[in-house]
Amino acid sequence: MVAEIISVGTELLLGNIVNTNAQYLAGRLAELGFELYYQTVVGDNTAHLKGALDVAYTRAELVILTGGLGPTKDDLTKEMLAHYFGKALAFREDVFENVVKHVHAFGATQITENHRKQAMVPTDSLILQNDHGTAPGCVMEHEGKIAVLLPGPPREMKPMFEQCVERYLYQLVDRSIASVCIRLKTKDEAAADLVGEAPVAAKLDELLDGENPTVATYAQEQGVLVRVTASAPTREDALVMARIVAKNCIDRIGLDVVKEVTEQ
Ligand code: ATP
Repeated sequence: MVAEIISVGTELLLGNIVNTNAQYLAGRLAELGFELYYQTVVGDNTAHLKGALDVAYTRAELVILTGGLGPTKDDLTKEMLAHYFGKALAFREDVFENVVKHVHAFGATQITENHRKQAMVPTDSLILQNDHGTAPGCVMEHEGKIAVLLPGPPREMKPMFEQCVERYLYQLVDRSIASVCIRLKTKDEAAADLVGEAPVAAKLDELLDGENPTVATYAQEQGVLVRVTASAPTREDALVMARIVAKNCIDRIGLDVVKEVTEQ
């Protein structure tokens, strides 16, 4: 299944904050076996967000959005997506209780209309409880399109993804991926002609053309990295496939120039 990430927030567009949410989600989606070809950053603007969604759904069935779920005027993701999917917003008492709990936990006493707005959630959708903040997340489905809405703050987004979203996403894919990473010694640590990317690639030769597992080389400051990635119905199966090809790679490169082997 093809997925895309849309990160919502003018702060991101202006370079005020680094898009660590997209980095995290891309890694998790790849591990879960989703194909990911595009990521978009869009400011807090309804028309621009709609444009980004229109384009994303021409390429992907699943779009994960972060940001813009807060109580203020520029937080428009929830309203915009509900409208986009033709769903009404309705007040949910249990969501409101969670909002109130967190408002009090943050030391505030006054509950405002904005807090009630946070408890307005799309009907006919899966609502994701926020254990670390006020904004609930949400999964909406409509005519083969799926949107997962997550809060912007990473300390709220990550636990929500791990506790609620992953389980949902596992149902959507029948595959999983696993990688074996082979880190080679640097030029200082081994004979230079053994550890450059070009000689390593030459030794791996036709393994670099493999489709499953794939083998890729990366020239990095800490030394060349060879990554072997396989996909299979289960992570265990994928790992077995990746290990076999990784061993083949190590045999060709030579164990004496391998610094460490890790599994992801
Ligand atoms: P809030 O309830 O805090 O308003 P929100 O869902 O509306 O949450 P935003 O207002 O878009 O989220 O962002 C709140 C904060 O979360 C940002 O100031 C930033 O610190 C962090 N944040 C948002 N998006 C990202 C991102 N893509 N990567 C990293 N941090 C982010």
